[in-house]
Amino acid sequence: ASRFEGIPMAPPDPILGVSEAFKADKCDLKLNLGVGAYRTEELQPYVLNVVKKAENLMLNRGENKEYLPIEGWAAFNKATAELLLGADNPAIKEQRVATVQGLSGTGSLRHAAALIERYFPGAKVLISSPTWGNHKNIFNDARVPWSEYRYYDPKTVGLDFEGMLEDIKSAPEGSFVLLHGCAHNPTGIDPTPEQWVKIADLIQQKNHIPFFDVAYQGFASGSLDEDAASVRLFVSRGMEVLVAQSYSKNLGLYAERIGAINVISSSPESAARVKSQLKRIARPMYSNPPVHGARIVADIVGNPDLFNEWKAEMEMMAGRIKNVRQKLYDSISSKDKSGKDWSFILKQIGMFSFTGLNKNQSDNMTNKWHVYMTKDGRISLAGLSLAKCEYLADAIIDSYH
Ligand code: PMP
Repeated sequence: ASRFEGIPMAPPDPILGVSEAFKADKCDLKLNLGVGAYRTEELQPYVLNVVKKAENLMLNRGENKEYLPIEGWAAFNKATAELLLGADNPAIKEQRVATVQGLSGTGSLRHAAALIERYFPGAKVLISSPTWGNHKNIFNDARVPWSEYRYYDPKTVGLDFEGMLEDIKSAPEGSFVLLHGCAHNPTGIDPTPEQWVKIADLIQQKNHIPFFDVAYQGFASGSLDEDAASVRLFVSRGMEVLVAQSYSKNLGLYAERIGAINVISSSPESAARVKSQLKRIARPMYSNPPVHGARIVADIVGNPDLFNEWKAEMEMMAGRIKNVRQKLYDSISSKDKSGKDWSFILKQIGMFSFTGLNKNQSDNMTNKWHVYMTKDGRISLAGLSLAKCEYLADAIIDSYH
C-alpha cells in the first residue's frame, strides 16, 4: 500500500480547472471565458511587441544568470514603486516605501499575508463578497483569519456601497481591508472616485490598514495613472498601505511570475524594518525571485520609447475588450425580447463581466453551448472576439430563461 494512502484527491481549481475542461472539449464552437488572459481577435495568446523588444535588447546585452538579492532586481523595485505611486510621490522621496519583488500577484499577496500572520496575530482581513477565488485560499493557507464585507448587489448588478461601509465599520479596529485597486474581479464593478474618498475616510477612522490588490493597473481604463488613483488617494492622506502588484495582465507576463509587495509606511525606519522582515520571509520559502520578468519590466519602464510603446499597446488591449463589451451588449439587448435591462454589462470595467448567471445556468452555458466560464457567472471578455459575440448572446439568453 502507498504511504500516501491518507492523501485524498483534491478537487480541480475552480478557475484553472475550467481551462483543463476546455482543452478536452472537441466541439468547434467552444469558447474559453474562464481564465483572465488576453487573447487577440483571433483568440490567440498575445506577447506584447514591447516585451519582445525588451527581450531582444536583453539577449544582446548577454546578461548573466547569477542569483538576485533576496529582495529582487533593484531597478525593478524602483520602477514598480514609481509606476504604482507616481515617480514624484513624497512617500518614495521620503523613503517610506518598502518594495520587495514578488512571485507575481499571487505570490505577493501570499507574502504580505505571511507578514500579517507573523506581526499582527489575530488581525482579520476583510475581503469583498464576492472576490477573486484565490484570495480565500491565500489567507487560509497563511492562517490569517478573514471575513467578508458586502460588495455586490444582485438586485442592481452594482455596488452595495451602504452594505460595504457598514461591514467595514463594524469590523474590529485595526483590521486589514483588502481592496481591488481597479477592475474588481469578478464583478467588474469599481467604486466611483467619490465613493473611494468615503471608503478612505472610514478606513482611517477605524484605524484599519488598507491592503490593495493591484492586478490590472492600466488594463481597466487604459491609463496607468488613472488605474492607480485609488491607491494614491490613500497614500496621499499619509495612511500606511499594503499593495500587491502583478504584471501578468498589463504586460502579458503571466508565466514569468513578476510582481511586487509594497508597504507604504509612516517613517523610513519602519519601512526599513518591514523590508528586512519581508526578506526574512522570502529566504526560507523561495530564497530569491526569478530575474527575467524583472528585467523586462525595469527595461520597459526605464526606457521612454519602450514605455510609450507599452502604454499604446495597453490602450489597444483595453480598447479591444471595450469593443467586445459593447458588441456583446448590443447583441444581447437586440436578441432578448424579455425586457431585461442588460446595461450592467456596459457599466462593468476591466477584463470581466459578471453576468448574474447562477451555477445551474453557468452549467447550461458549458454543457449545451460549450462556453467555459467560472460557476459564479463570471466571463472573461479578454477571451471573446467580436465574431463570437452573437453566439455568446444566444447562449446567455438561452441559459437565463
Ligand atoms: N488578484 C486578482 C484580483 C487577480 O484577478 C489575479 C489574476 N487573476 C491575481 C491577483 C494574481 O494573478 P498573478 O498571480 O498571475 O499575478
